[in-house]
Amino acid sequence: MSPSGHRSILIVGAGTTGLTAALELARRGFRPRVVDRDAGPVPLVESRALGVNARTLTLLSPSRVSDAILQEAHQLKRFRIVSKNRTLVSLDTTRIPGAYGALYALAQGHTERLLIGALSNYEVAPEWKTSVEKLSLDAAKPHVTLRKHDGSEEVASFDIVVAADGAHSAVRRAIGFGFPGDALESSFYLADFRYTRDIDPNFAEINLVDPGMIGRLPVERDVLRYISTLADFESRIVHPAPVAERVWASDFRIHFRHVEAMAKGSVFLAGDAAHIHSPAGARGMNLGIEDACWLAWLISEGREAEYSSLRMPAVMTVLKQTRQLTSMITMHNPLSITLRDLVVPVLFRIPAFSQELLRGVSGYDTPSPPWIDGAQ
Ligand SMILES: Cc1cc2nc3c(=O)[nH]c(=O)nc-3n(C[C@H](O)[C@H](O)[C@H](O)COP(=O)(O)OP(=O)(O)OC[C@H]3O[C@@H](n4cnc5c(N)ncnc54)[C@H](O)[C@@H]3O)c2cc1C
Repeated sequence: MSPSGHRSILIVGAGTTGLTAALELARRGFRPRVVDRDAGPVPLVESRALGVNARTLTLLSPSRVSDAILQEAHQLKRFRIVSKNRTLVSLDTTRIPGAYGALYALAQGHTERLLIGALSNYEVAPEWKTSVEKLSLDAAKPHVTLRKHDGSEEVASFDIVVAADGAHSAVRRAIGFGFPGDALESSFYLADFRYTRDIDPNFAEINLVDPGMIGRLPVERDVLRYISTLADFESRIVHPAPVAERVWASDFRIHFRHVEAMAKGSVFLAGDAAHIHSPAGARGMNLGIEDACWLAWLISEGREAEYSSLRMPAVMTVLKQTRQLTSMITMHNPLSITLRDLVVPVLFRIPAFSQELLRGVSGYDTPSPPWIDGAQ
């Protein structure tokens, strides 16, 4: 164990961000505690975050979790945006240099289980049904009150607290940080359907039905996710095969929010606790995994004070990109829609423009990890 492994670290939240932080610390000799108020990882039927990008695969390659993800995931090789039966954008997402394709599909519950499996190699396991109730910064070290699965209370101090407790982060509130930003007026709806036979698992599409959109994404070999701005979207779906079952459905509002700084003293915010945005571009889970990897590396170098200033520009890049993509697919004004349908195909014929979008989808538009040789 490295000398720095003796620092006590509490990770609040065992979602993809918290689990990644734990794994990246554990493989460097730390013994973090990971607590989560839920009883276990996200259920497998709730696909939630689907897109695993090339940057995440690079970051998870030292722990070999990327190999495990590649065994289970489907590569999104072709992506299309269609408006009124006319193809505006057609992208071959394999045309990105490097070891990985731009984007792969794997339901969040699977990714979480792979991370938990890798973590068990270091004898670290999430403490389920254990929540942070209070956190105080009055003493030299963050002072935390935990409510455990049997109802008992534990009060303890930690050298470092990583807040990976999601969009409604209790830790963020406890340290007095706001979560400024705005929300889109309209809701988004999604439903996953299982078919009686296999469908193309390598193809994704956004169909602009102005005003509104219906997106189609592969979840598994025989499951597709449809996501839409229209409450009645299910009646408009042209299914590629007979439906065996509707596996999962949900609706949500899109917020664009971020903290002003990602740390206060020895408390560090990562993932949805620090930033939330639209799922357009599939960046949410990936950005949280990036935060976690950078934070673990900086802690191991004794440079965690640099975390906030190093990560904030990446957060701002992703928020800007996802807002632009979301505006493009949720337009209402007929004039803007006509203009978009004229301009977008022309722009995407410029190779540099498509390549720039692909770099974003791959996650390569944020700083590359200096601790991984040859990383893009
Ligand atoms: C319906 C839906 C669809 C989505 N689709 C996509 C998508 O297509 N692409 C994409 O990139 N993203 C998507 N997301 C977002 C994605 O799921 C998140 O970006 C990602 O889960 C963030 O991971 P995280 O670990 O930071 O937070 P979370 O996954 O929210 O994990 C936070 C964890 O903290 C725990 N916790 C909370 N409070 C406490 C406490 N006080 N004490 C202890 N534990 C606590 C929670 O139980 C939870 O397990 C979707 C989200 C939803 C809900």
